[in-house]
Amino acid sequence: MSSMFLARRLVTRCFSSRPPLHVCIVGSGPAGFYTADKLLKAHEGARIDIIDRLPTPFGLVRSGVAPDHPETKIAINQFSRVAQHNRCAFYGNVKLGSDLSLSELRDLYHVVVLAYGAESDKNLGIPGESLGGIYSAREFVWWYNGHPDYSSLKPDLKSSDTAVILGQGNVALDVARILLRPTTELASTDIATHALSALEESSIRKVYLVGRRGPVQAALTAKELREILGIKNLHIRIKETDLTVTPADEEEMKNSRARKRIYELLSKAAAGTSKGDCDQRELHFVFFRQPERFLESDESKGRVSGVNLEKTILESGGSGKQIAVGTGEFEDINCSMVLKAIGYKSVPIDGLPFDHKKGIVPNVRGRVVSGDISQTEPGLYVCGWLKRGPVGIIATNLYCAEETVGSISQDIEEEEEGVVGKSEKAGRKGLVQLLENKMVKKVDFSGWEKIDAKEKQMGIERNKPREKLVTWEDLLAASSADS
Ligand code: NAP
Repeated sequence: MSSMFLARRLVTRCFSSRPPLHVCIVGSGPAGFYTADKLLKAHEGARIDIIDRLPTPFGLVRSGVAPDHPETKIAINQFSRVAQHNRCAFYGNVKLGSDLSLSELRDLYHVVVLAYGAESDKNLGIPGESLGGIYSAREFVWWYNGHPDYSSLKPDLKSSDTAVILGQGNVALDVARILLRPTTELASTDIATHALSALEESSIRKVYLVGRRGPVQAALTAKELREILGIKNLHIRIKETDLTVTPADEEEMKNSRARKRIYELLSKAAAGTSKGDCDQRELHFVFFRQPERFLESDESKGRVSGVNLEKTILESGGSGKQIAVGTGEFEDINCSMVLKAIGYKSVPIDGLPFDHKKGIVPNVRGRVVSGDISQTEPGLYVCGWLKRGPVGIIATNLYCAEETVGSISQDIEEEEEGVVGKSEKAGRKGLVQLLENKMVKKVDFSGWEKIDAKEKQMGIERNKPREKLVTWEDLLAASSADS
C-alpha cells in the first residue's frame, strides 16, 4: 500500500475526532522541509513545528550551496510556502541539546523528526592536522556563505600561490571553483562580502585536487566537473600516467556510464594546452595519493607549509569496489593552505542513540532504533544526512523524507497507542511556554522575513541578489527590527 494512500486513510480514520498530531522537526534544511511538506499533505491533523539552531532557515541551501549555483537555491521558494502553511511554524535560534533537551521535546510532541544534518567534519587523524592554514571544506564553505559561526575565519589566501584540496567529491570541486573562478564572476552572487574581498586579494593561482584513488573512481559528478573545466583562463593539469586504466577500471566503467563519462572528460582536459595568459590559474588533478602528514613551516611556526603524500595503488575491496593501498613511496606538495574535503560528519546529542562509526543515528527506514534493531524509540524518527550519512544532493532528501513519513504513517496505523495514542501533547503551546521560561529568544518565520528583506535591500545596493548578514548579533537584530 502506498504511503500516500495509507496516510489519506489515516487522516479520515484517525484524526477526525482526535486531538491533533503534534510534530516537531529539528533542522530546517531540505530534509526537514521535505518531511514537513509530506507530513502536512499526509496528515490533515498534523501541527508541525520546525526548529533550527540558526535564526535563518534552509540549512545547507543557505550555507552549503555554492554562491555561483543560484539555480539550486530555488528550493527555498517551496520551503517558504511550507513554512507559511497555517499548520506549520518555524522557530529559529532554538538549539536542541542546550536550549532544550531531546526528552523535553519528546514530552511535548507525539512525533519528533531529527533532520539536523551533518555539522562537523571527518578527520584524517594524521600528524600536523591542527596546524594553522588547514581548514575543513565545511569551514571554508560556511565562511564564503556567511554562516555566522565562521564569518570571522580569515583563511590564509596570501602566504603563497598554492592551495591543496584533499578529496575529489563535489564539495572539493565547489571550494576549488570558488578559489579559481574570476572574482568578477562571483561579485554578482550572494557570496559574503568579506569572502569576496579576501578572494579579490588572494595570491592562490595553483590548486591541487588530491584523490587517493584514480580518475575512474573520483567522487565528483560530470556536470560539476564540466563546470570547473570551463572556467576562463584555467589550465588543467593531469599526469598522463594517472590516466592509465586497468582491467578493473574498465569493468567499473562498463558498469557505470557516469564513471566512464568522468574519465573521458578528464582525459580530454588532460590533452588541452595552456593558453599562456598572464593571469592564468592552474588546477592540478592529482590521483593515487593519500595524505600521510602535514608539514610545518620553518619560518612560520605552527603553520602548514605542505602535505606529504603517499602514492597508492588500487586493490579489490570486494563487491566491485577498488580501494587505495599505500605503496611506501612518498612525495610532498608545498602550499600555504589545505582544505580537507573528505566528508561531513553528524554530531550526536544527549539521549540519542548514535552509531559513531557510521556517523549516523541507527534507524530502520527512518525509525530510530536503540541497541537491538528490533527496539524502536516510540515517536522518534530521523531524516537526511543524520539518517543515511553525508551523501546525496538536495533532491535525494525528497525520497528520504518520503520513506520517513511512510514509517510515521505506518506506525500510527499499526500502533496507535504507541505513537499518537490517546495522550494529549502540549505541542506548540508547550514549546513556546518552555522557551519563554528558559528565556530563549526564538525567531519565527516573520523574523526571518525581516532578515530576508533587509539582506535583499542591501543586495540591491551592491547589485547582488542579497547581501547576507553574517553575525549572530546582526541577524537577531534584523529579525526583531520594527517593520
Ligand atoms: P564525497 O562525495 O563523499 O567525497 C569525499 C571525497 O573524500 C572522496 O574523494 C573520498 O575518496 C575522499 N576521502 C574520504 N575519506 C578520505 C581519507 N581518509 N583520505 C583521503 N581521501 C578521503 O563527499 P563531499 O564531497 O563532501 O559531498 C557530500 C555529498 O554532497 C555528495 O553526495 C555530493 O555529491 C553532494 N554535493 C553535491 C553538490 C552538487 O550537486 N553540486 C555540491 C556539493 C556536494 P574515496 O572516494 O576514495 O572515498
